[in-house]
Amino acid sequence: MKEADFAPALLSWFDLHGRHDLPWQSPRSLYRVWLSEVMLQQTQVATVIPYFQRFLERFPDIESLANAPIDEVLHLWSGLGYYARARNLHKAARQILAEGGGQWPTDIEHLVQLPGIGRSTAAAILAQALDQRQPILDGNVKRVLARWFGIGGWPGQAAVLTRLWAASEAVTPATRAADYTQAIMDLGATLCTRSRPQCERCPVAPGCVAYREGLQSLYPGKRVVKGDRRTRQVVWVLIRRDGALRLVQRPPQGIWGGLWGFPEFPDLAAAISAMSVRAGTPPEFSRLTAVNHSFSHFDLTITPLLFDELGAAGIEDESSVWYNPHTPPAIGLAAPVADLIRAVSTGRVSFDLFSE
Ligand code: SF4
Repeated sequence: MKEADFAPALLSWFDLHGRHDLPWQSPRSLYRVWLSEVMLQQTQVATVIPYFQRFLERFPDIESLANAPIDEVLHLWSGLGYYARARNLHKAARQILAEGGGQWPTDIEHLVQLPGIGRSTAAAILAQALDQRQPILDGNVKRVLARWFGIGGWPGQAAVLTRLWAASEAVTPATRAADYTQAIMDLGATLCTRSRPQCERCPVAPGCVAYREGLQSLYPGKRVVKGDRRTRQVVWVLIRRDGALRLVQRPPQGIWGGLWGFPEFPDLAAAISAMSVRAGTPPEFSRLTAVNHSFSHFDLTITPLLFDELGAAGIEDESSVWYNPHTPPAIGLAAPVADLIRAVSTGRVSFDLFSE
């Protein structure tokens, strides 16, 4: 399945299995969709529905909300939690009334300036209320896209977030924006759940990197916190052929400069994609226990992937050596590399902590 097939497959699934009877879906006015999106920010649909209905009965339009005392707004919000949302809702209603005469901004740049409306919420409002093509990236969508594209790393990191937005941009269709937005949120909420996703029933399973590799639980990546120390994550690719492992020389600058080690990648998707190109087809591999290595100024977490390169010809290149532990060449190895070679060659591939 290609990127272009993602939205059509998702929309066909949505037509049959998606949620079409949510109270904010008809009519999909800006006010109702905004209210629902803010209520849904930290809360499940089933909890939100009665609050949404009570709120609308009392505040059927933006004027009634803006003119109400904040205490009454908070009273109707009681039990929903995250009360800053209610205060922001009230503030935003007053701002729209004061600055726009009750007219909603209909472009994302203005909408994100209202209190409590971030980029994804603004995009979801415009897509659902006005059918504008707007990529979204709420928590559920981050999970779906991280898994489908195999985007590793913690989404709180700017670089990871940028890749996820690019992924969302790549699969958002030009038409049926409102349905698509609801569809991808529904997929994340019902099938592509945090634990035990139901991949066998998923309409986009044929193109999903995490599903293909059986690595759903690795996406999205978790925050690695160890005191105030910086952390880095890398993936090492161990290619084994006839009992030897392929090593490349590390660049002269940087950690372990000039020593020999395994080819290194920033995340699983990059490693798997490079190996697919090398093998001409998505290869099978085993994921070994992650290795933690502490330097004086940061911690490194290494995820080793072991590929068995079958076939006599293989692929040669001049910049690498095949390291056979029984006839080891005289080259410098970083400590975790030597330990990994030993562990793989003796079948002992599960260990935890290395020190510098
Ligand atoms: S195949 Fe599984 S992991 Fe991939 S998007 Fe579907 S439900 Fe999520």
